[in-house]
This record gives sequence, C-alpha cells and structure tokens, in this order.
Amino acid sequence: MKPVDVIVVGGGMVGLSAALMAARQGLQVALVEAHAPKAWRQDEPDLRVVALALDSQALIESFGLWQEVLARRAHPYSAMTVFDAVHPAPLRFNAGDLGRPHLGHVLENEALVEVLWQAVVREPNIQGHCPDKINQLQQSETEVRVGLQSGTELCARLAIGADGAASRVRELLGIQTDDHDYGQKGLVAFVHTELGHEDTAWQRFLDTGPLAFLPFGDHCCSIVWSLPQTEADRLLLAEPEAFCRALDSAFAGTLGKTRLQSARVAFPLRRKLAKTMIQGRTILLGDAAHAVHPLAGQGVNLGLRDVSALRDAFVASARKTGDALDGAQLARWARTRYSENSLAALAFENINRVFSNDNMALSLLRGRLLGLGDRIGPMKNAMARYAAGL
Ligand SMILES: Cc1cc2nc3c(=O)[nH]c(=O)nc-3n(C[C@H](O)[C@H](O)[C@H](O)COP(=O)(O)OP(=O)(O)OC[C@H]3O[C@@H](n4cnc5c(N)ncnc54)[C@H](O)[C@@H]3O)c2cc1C
Repeated sequence: MKPVDVIVVGGGMVGLSAALMAARQGLQVALVEAHAPKAWRQDEPDLRVVALALDSQALIESFGLWQEVLARRAHPYSAMTVFDAVHPAPLRFNAGDLGRPHLGHVLENEALVEVLWQAVVREPNIQGHCPDKINQLQQSETEVRVGLQSGTELCARLAIGADGAASRVRELLGIQTDDHDYGQKGLVAFVHTELGHEDTAWQRFLDTGPLAFLPFGDHCCSIVWSLPQTEADRLLLAEPEAFCRALDSAFAGTLGKTRLQSARVAFPLRRKLAKTMIQGRTILLGDAAHAVHPLAGQGVNLGLRDVSALRDAFVASARKTGDALDGAQLARWARTRYSENSLAALAFENINRVFSNDNMALSLLRGRLLGLGDRIGPMKNAMARYAAGL
C-alpha cells in the first residue's frame, strides 16, 4: 500500500472539487467513488440542477474549468424575485445593484460533475478508485487507513468524507446528526413558459412550501416545488395538463401558461447536520456534513464554500507550520465552517417556517419582511450579497 496525502471519498460536485483543489496544492490524492458518473447529454437535460453562486463559479474558474462548463449548458441569472401568495409586492435583487453582470448560473449536476471528473482523470496527482466503496476506516494521531470493498487498502494523512447525505464515512466515524424531516418533497421538472423569464430566479412562497422557477433556456425554466409528500405524489402522477394547471395557479400565472417539457421527479426534503465536521484526521464536506432545505438554492454552494475555505486553510497552514495538513489548522477550519453551515441551515428553516404557513400572525410578519427587505437598501444588499456568494 503506497501512502498518499489525502483520501477523498465521494466523487460528486463537492468531492471532485476537493480532490482537484488538494492536487493543485501539490498533494497526492486518492479518490474513491461508488459509480462512474453518467455522461452529460445535450438532448436530455439532467433534472437535478443547481443555482451556482459567484463564489462557487470562482472556485471552478480557479481550476481553469469554467469555459468547459459554459460549453455545455449554463444559464446566467441577473435578478432574483421573491414574493408570496398574500403580499404580491415582490422583493427583487438585481445584479446591477451589486455592480455585477449576473448573480449566478443555473446548470445541471451532470454537466458540472462531467467537467470536474474529466479534469480529475487528467490530473497526475490523483489516483482514482472507481467503482469502489469505502467499508472500513481506522485512524491514529498521524494517519488514516481506509479499506475498500474491492480489498484495496489506502493510507493517508487526511481523509475527506464527501459521500453525500447518507455518508458512510460519517457513519464509520460514529458522528451523530441533527435531523429534521420537513414532511415535504421537492418536485423538479423542466417547463416551457409562455412569457420570458427575464433571466430571473423566481421564488414564490405558498402555505404548502416554496416554488422556484430557475431560468434554464429560452422560455424554459427548471422548477423546484416544495410540497407536502402526499400532494407531491399526487402531482407526480397527474396528467401533464392538470399538473400545469396546478403549477400555473401556484405561481399565479407570473410567467403565463406553462407546458411540461420533461419527466417529473420528487426528492424527500430533510435537514441532516453532522454534529461535527472533524474527527481525528478525517473531515466531512458538502452534503455529508450538511444537507439543507433547497429553498435558497444554497446546498451545493455551501459545500463548495467548504472546499474554498479548506484551500485557504491548507495555504495558511503550509505558511505557518510548513505542513499544509496541520491538525490545529484543520480543527479551526472545521469550527468556522460548522458555525457558518449551521447558521445557514437554521436561517433556511426559519424562512421556510415563516413563509410556508397560513398562520395570520406569520402572514403579517412575512409581508413586513418582504416590504422591509425591499425598502431598506443595506438589508437588501446584504441578502443579495449572501445569495450571490459575494
Ligand atoms: C430537489 C433538490 C434541489 C436542489 N437544488 C439545489 C440548488 O438549486 N442549488 C444548490 O446549490 N443545491 C441544490 N440541491 C442540493 C445539491 O444537489 C446537493 O447539495 C449537492 O449535490 C451535494 O453535493 P455532494 O458532492 O456533497 O454530494 P452528492 O452529490 O450526493 O455526491 C456524493 C457522491 O458520493 C458517492 N458515494 C456515496 N456513498 C459512497 C461510498 N460509500 N463510497 C464511495 N462513494 C460514495 C456517490 O456516488 C456520489 O457521487 C438540491 C437538492 C435537491 C434534493
């Protein structure tokens, strides 16, 4: 067994970014991924899309890969509009107010994973183990030993668990999670809209949960509709025309009549927050550490922020101690990221509670919040900067 510096378990958007980041810092990396990624397809868009914020884009740019992402499919959005069923006056953020041409891009999970995966394959500092799965993890003060299902054994000075919300690394470490089942599902699909989407990411809050329309192409939006489970199941099976009538009513016809352009899929919505992001010489990143409500479109952005902050920690650590993987610096990284991710998860949850509720007092409160948010410049600016990752 030849030791490496870092073992990354999980080759989703976050794990691949972490592997590339570590390799570009001159570290030797072993990447373990259970399944080779599905190829991105021009003719069949991936239903799982993400709204990638500007700081996430900056990370991908730092790998020299942004043009490859754009060469697939990425739709920029230059405004965000938030409104609710009771108070029609919207809260609107414009990229121009922040001196930017746009606030982020909507792109497919498969497109970003394919670009990152190809870069990982080209990277001499990364050895891939795919398809393979972790099934053992032991650590001492100085190293981590990982056993894979194939029988391969790996040894490194740092292990990174980026293996998603059902993380096996987290389970092997015995790290507890703080869980909440929202009793909702996120229904996703692509729809054609009668009116242009104005390159705007729209979010309408309803008693049943938020409904997002993300611009994806000419008169085409990706919808993420958070619904009570039974309602989501009913709408998954509804005839396309009946589904679109319900959608148009839920979105108050804001973009005119819609027409279904894809299959519909629904994901259960759960919060899962690991109680710590570090144990010994193993850290957790991305959904393995924090799966959050999709309402603010921040899920993967939080994970990519973990990676950017980890790069800063490696650099600071190398400068201070001569060792990029110094334990004290990693512990500081984990504390800072844990606080930021927990605060973000809590904020999304409270927004969901206040906005997705027909309680009269909460309804008045959200009207006030939307009105205040739109009128108070600094507050609005701060919200826009956070959402755009500035
Ligand atoms: C309905 C919905 C809408 C969303 N919308 C948005 C949005 O608009 N914006 C946004 O930022 N986020 C959004 N998200 C969240 C986003 O999809 C996730 O935050 C993101 O995919 C997390 O990336 P990850 O790399 O941490 O995990 P994953 O993408 O889950 O990747 C984990 C990887 O680990 C591998 N793996 C698992 N177990 C093992 C094992 N034992 N050994 C080896 N490999 C393993 C898996 O095969 C997978 O490749 C949404 C999520 C949902 C459900």
